[in-house]
Amino acid sequence: MVLLLFGPPGSGKGTQSASLGRWLQIPVVSTGHLLRSEVEEGTPLGLVAKDLLARGALVGDAVMNDMIAARLRRPDCGNGVILDGYPRTRQQAEYLDQLLPERGLPEPLVLHFDAPDPVLVTRLATRLSCPACGRVYNVKQRAPKRLGYCDQEGVALVSRSDDQYGVVVERLRTYREQTAPLIDFYRGRRLFQVNADRGPDEVLDELKGAVDSILVRSVRRRG
Ligand code: ADP
Repeated sequence: MVLLLFGPPGSGKGTQSASLGRWLQIPVVSTGHLLRSEVEEGTPLGLVAKDLLARGALVGDAVMNDMIAARLRRPDCGNGVILDGYPRTRQQAEYLDQLLPERGLPEPLVLHFDAPDPVLVTRLATRLSCPACGRVYNVKQRAPKRLGYCDQEGVALVSRSDDQYGVVVERLRTYREQTAPLIDFYRGRRLFQVNADRGPDEVLDELKGAVDSILVRSVRRRG
């Protein structure tokens, strides 16, 4: 099974991808997470990406396509993968259409999350994450048990530098201009729309229902 999580920043892709990955027992590949690791390690790619991330702009298609091709080559992706944050442009989506069959992976199920801009901006402004495990918290909807510390790792939570208001506005603009048009690219294929302006448990239940119905249909087709 290949899931593409698609939606504006703050729509809950990271939270849901982690839950879906545990449920389906397949890896989650977040391009944002991979890029932030490159920045932290100060690699040549990280040095280029740092400035783009800080501005809320996209990293180039060729770099992102190579990154995904290398990641999908690893054996843990043999049974499927959840992609969070890729594809983000038409060029990336076309590249992925070639790559999946080459890797023996099936047609993706696209999960499209959306919520109104004011909801997204508020969520991002109040979001904290764990630098060790990446778990995301929110003072309103998913508060840590001990204020300011990760439930799992016990380390101090941090706010992402690109969650500052000015950068958030730019990331939303980039999403609406460059990524949202991809919905049309996937229309008529396996595309499922989810209202992300709800609590994480409710959204997860709906996503599991969508995945289940796809699995049942593909078993029937094989049988
Ligand atoms: P969000 O979806 O919350 O904006 P991500 O963690 O997915 O955040 O991505 C953070 C940043 O990484 C993006 O703003 C962009 O600069 C860069 N990025 C991530 N994925 C891609 C991609 N597929 N193509 C180009 N840039 C990307």
